[in-house]
Amino acid sequence: MIKTVHQFKMLCEQKRARVTPPRLAAFKIIRKEKQPITAYELLDKMSLYLSNPRPPTAYRALEFLEELNIINRIDSLNAYMLRKHRDSTTVVYAICDECGWVEELDPTYLDRDLWGASDYNGWLMFCSKVEVCGLCDRCKNSALEEMNRGRN
Ligand SMILES: [Zn+2]
Repeated sequence: MIKTVHQFKMLCEQKRARVTPPRLAAFKIIRKEKQPITAYELLDKMSLYLSNPRPPTAYRALEFLEELNIINRIDSLNAYMLRKHRDSTTVVYAICDECGWVEELDPTYLDRDLWGASDYNGWLMFCSKVEVCGLCDRCKNSALEEMNRGRN
């Protein structure tokens, strides 16, 4: 995971990409977010760093961070989140149906299986994105408690 400004700048240098104020601002904002952020929420917060940022500025910064594999877009939420497992081809997000909490899951086993399945069918996999819906640990436990209470 790219978490510090230093790591961010090192990665940009490595990829021969420029660190522009909008890119740096977008990174600084997203790294602090514990949950996915939409482009408009980002745009809103970018105004703390830049004067009068416009929607294309936010979208271009998001595109840049996504290309460098620093963040990922969660399609079903139309929002972005810092990526934990950057070395994996597969990214897995679990989204709670009850409270909306989003968590990135360890993709190691799924990644290996998808590589195998792709290869078996003659495909070369570039990327895969999986969104899991269900209940987070907290909501699952309260649902179970409620079920148990109903039984007594
Ligand atoms: Zn939940």
